[in-house]
Amino acid sequence: MPLKTPMEYVDSLRNMKIRAYIGGELVENVVDDPSVAPHINTVAKTYELAHMPEHADIMTTTSHLTGERIHRYTHIFQSSDDLIKKIQMLRLLGQATGTCFQRCVGLDALNAMYAVSYEVDQDKGTDYHERFKKYLAYVQREDLMLAGAMTDPKGHRAKKPSQQEDPDQFVRVVEQRPDGVVIRGAKLHNTGGINSHEILVLPGTGLVPGEEQYAIACAVPADAEGVVFIFGRQSNDSRKLEGGCDIGNTRFGVVGGEAMVVFDDVFVPTERVFLNGEIEHCAQLVNYFATWHRANYGGCKGGNADVLIGATAKMTRILCTDRNSIVKDKLFEMIHRTETTFASAIGSSALGYQLPCGSFMTDPILANTVKQNITRNVYEIGRLSHDLAGGFLATMPDSKAFDNPEISGWVRKYHTANPEYDVMERIRVGRYIENMTSVTTMVEAMHGAGSPQAQRIAMLGQADIEGKIRMADEVIYGTNDVPGLALPDVNSTAASDERPRKKLDD
Ligand code: SF4
Ligand code: FE
Repeated sequence: MPLKTPMEYVDSLRNMKIRAYIGGELVENVVDDPSVAPHINTVAKTYELAHMPEHADIMTTTSHLTGERIHRYTHIFQSSDDLIKKIQMLRLLGQATGTCFQRCVGLDALNAMYAVSYEVDQDKGTDYHERFKKYLAYVQREDLMLAGAMTDPKGHRAKKPSQQEDPDQFVRVVEQRPDGVVIRGAKLHNTGGINSHEILVLPGTGLVPGEEQYAIACAVPADAEGVVFIFGRQSNDSRKLEGGCDIGNTRFGVVGGEAMVVFDDVFVPTERVFLNGEIEHCAQLVNYFATWHRANYGGCKGGNADVLIGATAKMTRILCTDRNSIVKDKLFEMIHRTETTFASAIGSSALGYQLPCGSFMTDPILANTVKQNITRNVYEIGRLSHDLAGGFLATMPDSKAFDNPEISGWVRKYHTANPEYDVMERIRVGRYIENMTSVTTMVEAMHGAGSPQAQRIAMLGQADIEGKIRMADEVIYGTNDVPGLALPDVNSTAASDERPRKKLDD
């Protein structure tokens, strides 16, 4: 059965030659690096839960290509139920790790590529879809961890790719060869790339004629010649090197271990190229990916919020404030915001619809609503957690102070609240809250899956304002009432009965 165990995932990474710079230095092997280890643990959890019978229905499914049992993270959505189960999987994993488990970017990129390769073939008579299905079968068989690479550096933000002074600001093909292409450029904010088997490179924007070199989608092994990862800094990341509870989420880390990935003239063989010059389909590829990924946040951030709510509730017990009705009300507010966002994600999935290729797309305006709410709710939930946990989140001593016999008596004595709890529980829970509500976590919630303005633009386009005006006119004037069936308007007068015929006929 193609389901890797956590150790098989770690061993397979160890056997790769991933070229990665962390803290400005080239590392020998990412698996042994303390900066990456928590993020590897998190992905390992996605493999572990797939082997647990109680989670089999959520974490695994049947491949529509081979009929084999596969990890849901390599699956093409076949129904609205699949979309719902994905959101449930994300909440479960968010609860199990309290952080970003990284594999969703690759999953949504796989789905976007599956759908668009079909549409390109219909439009252009190419054979990308069959080629992509072969690659997909390989991913499913090997249960691979994929990173989706979307975001180009973009250079001058007011200019299109072809207008940039530096043509490499968007990933592009620099050489077409009989057996493949050579790509150059970089992708930023790459979630999980540094501990992935494969990178699925997709265009990050819509393109116009003359920009064919930027219309490239392909799969690249993470250790291919010319691929270089440069790990991002996070708030408090040097604490990972110190060990101890000041790290916060000691086992799973903060967000997804994002990196910049450079493609320094990387050769990609033809069988791994899934779009090459078809500019007309790039915008749809971005749109499909973004829609699926925006709905995700109601699942993963919901699960993360569950853990934060739990840590905050525990802190109120440690502080003996838990019986206060104002405290309870603030916990309620955290729960309400979490469940509202989760409900939108489930709703967008339940209203999924079939794409031309046969797979299922989540409801777009609801998916955008999920992400727009996340850009606010994660901050508000964090604010309430800070409110309830207290100012010591920002001032508590280094955990090493509790080990130094010269001062440990004082720091223990003056940080003890409810004597039923050891003082180190207060410190550990406090550090968890501090780190999981830190700037890196917040910014990821704001900009991951697209910045807030991207959802606002999309929602304005999807909301059908003209249709809503027609609804208002209909309710107010009863223009389409069926004669003989509709009840008379008992309040109508001669003056107010004039109907906006012209607009309705437009
Ligand atoms: Fe998955 Fe959420 Fe991380 Fe995106 S932010 S990769 S949806 S866990
Ligand atoms: Fe994200």
